[in-house]
Amino acid sequence: MNSTSGNTIDFDSARLKIKSAGAQASKSVHSSASPSVSQLQQSLSQLLQTSLEMDRILGLFFATLQQALELNSLEYRHDAKQLQFDFGSPALHRCSYRLTHLGDFLGELRFSRSKRFSEAQLKGLESLLGSLLYPLRNALLYHEAIACALNDPLTGCGNRLALDQALDREIKHAIRKRTDLSMMVIDIDHFKTINDTYGHAFGDEALKAMVSACEGCLRAVDGLFRLGGEEFVVLLSDTSLVDARMVAERIRNAIAEMQFQLDGQPIPLTVSIGVARRRNDESQQALYERCDQQMYKAKRGGRNQVIAEG
Ligand code: GH3
Ligand code: MG
Ligand code: MG
Repeated sequence: MNSTSGNTIDFDSARLKIKSAGAQASKSVHSSASPSVSQLQQSLSQLLQTSLEMDRILGLFFATLQQALELNSLEYRHDAKQLQFDFGSPALHRCSYRLTHLGDFLGELRFSRSKRFSEAQLKGLESLLGSLLYPLRNALLYHEAIACALNDPLTGCGNRLALDQALDREIKHAIRKRTDLSMMVIDIDHFKTINDTYGHAFGDEALKAMVSACEGCLRAVDGLFRLGGEEFVVLLSDTSLVDARMVAERIRNAIAEMQFQLDGQPIPLTVSIGVARRRNDESQQALYERCDQQMYKAKRGGRNQVIAEG
């Protein structure tokens, strides 16, 4: 028989409980050889100060609790922030906690082990969750700050800084693995006219729709970045020029067929795309410039088209 228990831990009220439970459960959560709850709390309070990275904080938390509580796994989920971290392999008996602090949801933790959790172990576990509060809250804030620094607020895709970082990473990967790296520069056609005719707010909606049409054509590993205005870059790792051209055609077609409407009236929206595959020893800037030149050729060629150069 498996057992599942679910709880909500509101850290503000839990802190009171933890103080009294700490005294009761201070001996041991497992066997006489195991560290006591207060010893574990002490080492957690030091360890969890050492990082602001979610995966590191949760990994340290799991590693500290694993032995004492004979845990098999720890899963962390925060759907709204699209965060998910898994440690160990899930076993039969589970317990889960929804964590909140001052009305903010901090995520859900699920623990599992092959033996049933005893009442004392659950109490110990709940006491130890208190040590996670501030490190977890700080790590979430840090994650948000990083995401803000790297994301375009309008469309949600990566910004110029994110592109610089991704390009640096992808070029190193391509050199190490001797694989192809291809890039696209995408620019919306006559976007100024769209803004002037239908208004800036409508232009913003067109940008968002264009991004989701693009994302629908890309793999999860591909990167889409907004350089500014209505110009975007796509990075395709491990992708030849022939394949990159095919993806670019798919994007061009998806946007042209998008059926973007205002008051039921279809508004034509098209893009011009330049594609290039990175040459040996080519710098980030040189690759981008070559792609941009192809995109301008596509504009001169009549727009709504893809031009690729190896
Ligand atoms: P082309 O086909 O040659 O690319 O012509 P274009 O009109 O798209 O090019 P241009 O660079 O002249 O116009 C870009 C326009 O993009 C001008 C600017 O008003 C608009 N734009 C830039 N950023 C934003 C934004 O965040 N929202 C909206 N709605 N418009 C923006
Ligand atoms: Mg344009
Ligand atoms: Mg432009």
